[in-house]
Amino acid sequence: MLNFDVLTPAAALRIAAVTPFTSIDFPGKLSAVVFLRGCPWRCSYCHNRWMRSRRSEEGDPTWASVETLLKKRKGLLDGIVFSGGEPCMDPALPAAVRLVKDEGYAVGLHTSGAYPRHLKDCISLVDWVGLDVKGNPEDPQAFDAVAGINGAHKAFLESFEIIRRAGVKYEARTTAHPGFLGEDDLITIARWLKERGADTYALQIYRKAPGMENALDPVPETWPSAATIEKLRTIIPNFVLRRE
Ligand code: SF4
Repeated sequence: MLNFDVLTPAAALRIAAVTPFTSIDFPGKLSAVVFLRGCPWRCSYCHNRWMRSRRSEEGDPTWASVETLLKKRKGLLDGIVFSGGEPCMDPALPAAVRLVKDEGYAVGLHTSGAYPRHLKDCISLVDWVGLDVKGNPEDPQAFDAVAGINGAHKAFLESFEIIRRAGVKYEARTTAHPGFLGEDDLITIARWLKERGADTYALQIYRKAPGMENALDPVPETWPSAATIEKLRTIIPNFVLRRE
């Protein structure tokens, strides 16, 4: 059983992949991304399905290889992002975050908020969070349906509050498809975030991942409407629309 109360060494981290250099995954920072294995949620649009199992596979990157990267890229990279899967599922995350901080890097975290207690254990060392908002926070059932699991909404609300109370910078982001989110939902999400002090919101329009089976229908270029996009911009000035 996972237990964040006992510090698991970083060497136990289950890494699925490492992107050694990116300028788009941690705002304002050149970074590397460490993708961790495991996610309990089942979003229909998931691009990283192969990472959802916790089972390690032959050839997976090791923590030692990440440590080598940390030493080699000093001065060239600003930060390390932990992504996944759901990185907060991995009990070795707090130890890994601490080591990355000790090497002088900023830490970014991509999470859906599935593990509030685990998030709480490491949030004080995290500099920035990319927080998925899977659905309309005012509609728990629909939220859980998007995440493909009961209880997702509850976990998200708890994680959101942890991030908010910690005062850490974050970008709320929603992957959207008209099949599971209406334009009204998008407006409600933006308002809900605004009321809670969010200043950045990114709408990521669903696109099919290469080789993805059972993909959803492509999203028309005209969705969401120009009027909805304008409204979203009015609600949250730092609103970003991503179609790629
Ligand atoms: S939370 Fe992320 S990794 Fe998990 S199923 Fe959803 S999209 Fe995939």
